[in-house]
Amino acid sequence: MPEGHSLHRLARAQRRSFQGQRLDVTSPQGRFAAGAALLDGSVLTASEAWGKHLFLGFAPGAGRRPERWLHVHLGLYGAWTFAGDAQFAGPHAIGAPRVRLGESESAVVAADSGVVDSDLETNDAESGRYVPPPPRGQVRVRLVGDHGVADLTGPTRCEVLDPAGKLRVIDGLGPDPIRPDPGDRGREVFVENVRRSRTPVGTALMDQSVLAGVGNIYRAELLFRHGLNPWTPGQLVPAETLRALWADAVVLMRKGASTGQLTTMDPAHRRTREDTRYTYHRDGRGCLLCETPIVVGEMAGRRVYWCPSCQPGPA
Ligand SMILES: [Zn+2]
Repeated sequence: MPEGHSLHRLARAQRRSFQGQRLDVTSPQGRFAAGAALLDGSVLTASEAWGKHLFLGFAPGAGRRPERWLHVHLGLYGAWTFAGDAQFAGPHAIGAPRVRLGESESAVVAADSGVVDSDLETNDAESGRYVPPPPRGQVRVRLVGDHGVADLTGPTRCEVLDPAGKLRVIDGLGPDPIRPDPGDRGREVFVENVRRSRTPVGTALMDQSVLAGVGNIYRAELLFRHGLNPWTPGQLVPAETLRALWADAVVLMRKGASTGQLTTMDPAHRRTREDTRYTYHRDGRGCLLCETPIVVGEMAGRRVYWCPSCQPGPA
């Protein structure tokens, strides 16, 4: 599943591709025909991410506040695929890679940096407007703008919301370290959310109502970077440790959003080119800092990795 930094890249790609343009919105697959009809012919005036949720804002005219929002959660299998003419500025695909590699993001990164399908022959001879290729696969939503197309396949959630409905979704989400708006208040909300219960901190970091955007890779790596055992009850984690973890997440995840690379390791700790993570998918191999074998466990149905020596704790 793409982590939050990929969603922020996706929001930016939608903005670059379609902001200010009147879009043809359809559901080639048919499952979203009624929702698409509500948006068809309106102008994309906003595109933003909150955690793993994408919100595309549509208005009757350019420069207006959105009256309707297309709300998408990609889940495990969802993806947006972009294509366009020579003037199109979108990426090729963001979301599930064509060949899914477990929770690895490497294929997503590869696709994200790929080239745009470019074919001038696809523009209408009279209007010059882009004519997209036929949809491939089960396309839930197709957006067609002046120079390109974006196809959504396999989302977990795809719905049209009014502004109040969008706020309700965001109210259910914790602060997102990549967004500029939560600031210090976001940090304190996160600290309170973790320390409110005995829920293990490793579970809390993956709970989108505690902290929005963190997935399994950032979870494992942030816990290691702060010496936190995943099974430590949230209320026993010092507030100062959580504040430092939040500050770290802000830096790492914003860097991820700008580069497309999920980087979590300090260069000084790297021994070989293959060392890209401290603990994630490194079970059985020696910790890069202390040589203790990294262990793996199951937590709320997902695999969690830690170093028993650098991250001492209850389990
Ligand atoms: Zn260690």
